Formats: sequence, structure tokens, C-alpha cells
Amino acid sequence: MTVAAHIWQTEPEPITEFYAEENADVVVVGAGSSGVTAAQSAAEAGASVICVEKFSRPTAHGTDIGSINTLVHEREGVHIDPLEAARLEYAWSQQQANYHLIRTYTERSGEVLNHYIRMAEARGYTVKLNSELTARADWDKLDEKYRMFRTAHIFDAPEGSGHPKERWHAAYYMQVVYTSAQELGVRFLFDSPAVRLVKEDGRVTGVIVKDARGHKLIRAGKGVILASGGITDSVEMKECFCPIALRADKNENFPRGGNNGDGHVMGKWVGAAFSRCYPAPIIHPVNLSPLGQGMNTSWLTVDRNGRRFCNETAYEPIVTNARMNAPGNVAWAICDADYMEHFRRQEPLKFSALPDNAEEEIEACVADGTYIRRDTLAELADAIGVPAGALEKTVARYNEMWDAGEDVDFGVPKRFLSPVKKGPFLACRLSAWLLNIPYGLHVDDDSRVCTEEDEPIPGLWAVGNMQGDFFANSYPVTLPGSSHGRSICFGRLVGQAVALNREHL
Ligand SMILES: Cc1cc2nc3c(=O)[nH]c(=O)nc-3n(C[C@H](O)[C@H](O)[C@H](O)COP(=O)(O)OP(=O)(O)OC[C@H]3O[C@@H](n4cnc5c(N)ncnc54)[C@H](O)[C@@H]3O)c2cc1C
Repeated sequence: MTVAAHIWQTEPEPITEFYAEENADVVVVGAGSSGVTAAQSAAEAGASVICVEKFSRPTAHGTDIGSINTLVHEREGVHIDPLEAARLEYAWSQQQANYHLIRTYTERSGEVLNHYIRMAEARGYTVKLNSELTARADWDKLDEKYRMFRTAHIFDAPEGSGHPKERWHAAYYMQVVYTSAQELGVRFLFDSPAVRLVKEDGRVTGVIVKDARGHKLIRAGKGVILASGGITDSVEMKECFCPIALRADKNENFPRGGNNGDGHVMGKWVGAAFSRCYPAPIIHPVNLSPLGQGMNTSWLTVDRNGRRFCNETAYEPIVTNARMNAPGNVAWAICDADYMEHFRRQEPLKFSALPDNAEEEIEACVADGTYIRRDTLAELADAIGVPAGALEKTVARYNEMWDAGEDVDFGVPKRFLSPVKKGPFLACRLSAWLLNIPYGLHVDDDSRVCTEEDEPIPGLWAVGNMQGDFFANSYPVTLPGSSHGRSICFGRLVGQAVALNREHL
């Protein structure tokens, strides 16, 4: 007898006993940014909608919502070429992703977000570009490899607007859309994890949830939209599909257990295929101090042998991927006493926005051990446990390339090189925090879930991180906020299409 290695490989016995049944046109599984958007949009299009969620409230994390050519862009005089954006986003996937999904996103995310921007503004929220961090006014002019478009939008609840304050800006988007969904009559069933999809005569016709009273059958007249997120919290799925994510320092996803891959398992049991792409984990080098590498600045980075081993451009996944595959899973960013001068040259806009107490914050980091400071490179090497001779050699070569104006080893643009010449020197351990793993089910151009043979499974769609084939290998930051951005874009388009029985988005 062959025993299947993984839960998703064998469909269990059917569940036939229900304590209750409910009906809706559209059933959405998961109340994250994609699911709540899909539910709101389907209801707005006239459908009756039930959204089931395993926890007791919607999920909203993060800051940036990446969309292209919105009315906020228009107000700020920003225009992004959707074809160029699609080309570069697709290139990042090394041609694994479905280009047509990306095109839909780059061409239609503006119109979609405009709908919610208007709704938010009518309710007293504000929406602007995240110009201080991820919608930098000068990164869209860098070489293609590093080009970062000004896609990142942040929703906010200004003082006096009466809306509750949140830690994450995406939660303001959620307040707006969740409230609208409730007003439109969407029934949210919380603490009701979906455990099975119902397939009858080849079509997905409903969802079974398990709540405190037992199993409940929810029939979907028009369709089921899976929006249960990626595989961030499933160790088994990470081992199978994304082992690099197991080397991150920590998992920052919340609420923990929200992304266990339930939708993947349920989808497989009704014949779906997994994404055609290698997963693209979102792993940031989180260092919240003013010198934080990745989001802020690029510093020479060395492995435990004192060797330079990667391109350090401040482009988040670039350095974290390299660090996690470095010997011992450790790396150190090194800078010299002129770090403020280097920061100013690398990021003139951000430098001018640094808080007055930036130097004090750095001193606090030295005091608490986040940064290690020593007068000489040899002392620094000793303090961080790398061979002094190797570090000195690496620094000498790096400085030579700085002097020559070209990084012939890794191609870091001159603007982002920072010579290491003047003591005392600082070292900071490079962090790698896992936020999310977008990885879902194989879909077609209309986000219908497909089999291994590329046949859509009637009645079943996937949005958000459940939508496979969009990102591959490494999370692209060409279009910052594209994770929420595509979740919202396809959430709305799919919600409408299912509600209106449209074949295409
Ligand atoms: C700390 C942090 C910061 C981030 N910052 C950003 C950012 O700035 N910009 C950006 O674009 N992205 C960001 N991301 C990533 C982004 O938040 C996600 O990619 C995005 O939320 C995906 O939305 P989703 O709807 O697909 O999934 P989720 O938001 O994960 O929602 C899925 C929902 O489904 C529910 N669910 C799961 N299984 C079941 C089940 N069996 N039955 C019922 N419900 C179920 C979950 O509980 C959850 O509520 C960040 C992520 C984290 C963790």
C-alpha cells in the first residue's frame, strides 16, 4: 500500500452530516485584503455573499498598496507606463509567471483602487503615496534592474476623523471596504474555518465550514472564491515548496496560523494544481534604525569568512536571499564613520526627512549592541567573529572599486556604494524577517483555478496569495505594494465577474 506523504495528496472521506445549511450566490473563503475586497465587490454587483473566516476578525497587515495610475498619481503628476511595469515585473519572475495576469494588474489596478480611494475619501480617510519610504521620487529613474515605480499608496485615518487608529495602514483600507461590505449585506461568518470544498458533477458548488457547533454546509449558487492566503505558517509546505523561508530569523506573519495553506489543500482535493511558479517569499531585512539596510541604505556586506558575497543594493529581497544562503546563515553590514555622508549621497530625499535625533538613535543602537563599533577593522573583525585579514582584504578591494567608480564584482550602482575608510567602523548583523509567502493554486488568465492540464475547475476562483502564477522566485519590489495591490485588483475583478456570471474579468 502506498501512503501519501502529504495531507493534500489524498482526499479524505466526504463529510455528510451538517448541523445547518446556508445559501449564497458567492462564497468567499478568507477575510484578508483579497477576500474582503472580493466579497464587497460581488455584493456591490448585486450578489448575495457569505465570507467565511477562520479567525474572529478580518486580517490586515502591511502598509503599501501598489496600484498603477490612480487618481492619487494624477494629483501628484505621476504616470507609470503599464507596459513597462508589466515587462519588468514579469522579468523578475524569470518568465515563470503568467504575463497576462501581470498585464491585467498593471492595466486595471488603477481603476480598481480609484473606486476604493473615492470611497475612503468620502468617509474621511486620506490616501497618498508613500513617498518617504517606498514610492521614492528618484528610484523610478534607476537602471531597469533597480527601477522601482511609485506605486505604493497608504490609506490613513487623520486625527479627528473618528476612525480607530491602527498600527498598519492596510488596516485603514480594510476598515473602509469591510464597512462597505457589511452595508451591502455581506454575511461574515467568523471563527468558521472552511475545511472542505464541495464538488458535484464536476463543479464546485459550496464550502463546508467547521465552527463550534460542528459542520455547516454553505452552498454557492454562482461560485466559490478562495482567498485564504499563502503558505507562510505551514512548515510542511515551506519544506516542500520554499525551504529558504525556513532560514529566516523569524516569521512576522499574523495572526499566526492564518496562512496554513488550507485553501491549497482543499483545492488539491478537488483536482487543482499548485502554482506553476517557485514561491516568492517576502523576506525583508528589517532594521528599524536610521541606517537600516534594505529599505534605507546599502553597506558593504560580508559573510562569516569576511568575504563579500552579494549585491547589496537597498532592494529588499536581494540581500535577504543572499544572506539566508550564506555559510552559517549570517552576514554583517559594515560602514565607516562617515555613514551619514554616505546616507545623504545614497538617499538624498530620505536623508532630508531623517528625524533630528537620528544620531542619538544610532548611539542607542551601539549602546544596546545592535551595532558594534570599533576603532579599527581588525578589532571590528574580532568583535563579530570574522577573520581580520579577510575583512581587511575585502574592504580594500571594495574601496578600490569605489575609487574607480565601478563595482565590477556585483554591479552595485556607484550611488549605492559606500567606501569603508575612516574609523571608527560599525557592523550590524543583517536580519531576514519572513512576512509572507505568496504561493497559491494554478489559475488561468481570469483567475479561475485550474487542473494540472490547465482546465478551469467550474465554480472555483482564487485571489490574493491563493492566486498562483503571479510572483516567482523572489518577491519583486519593482512595483512596491504589489502584494496587496494585486490582491485588491483581482479581488474586485473576480468578485464582479462571479457575481455577474461573466466568463472573463
Ligand atoms: C507584517 C507584514 C507586512 C506586510 N506589508 C505589506 C505591504 O506593505 N504591502 C504589501 O503589498 N504586502 C504586504 N504584506 C503582505 C500582504 O499583507 C499579503 O500578501 C496580503 O495580505 C495577502 O492578502 P490575502 O488576502 O491573500 O491573504 P491574507 O491577508 O493572509 O488573508 C487570508 C485570510 O484567510 C483566512 N483563512 C485562512 N485559512 C482559512 C480557512 N480555512 N477558512 C477561513 N478563513 C481562512 C486567514 O485567517 C486570513 O484572514 C505584509 C505582510 C506582513 C505579514
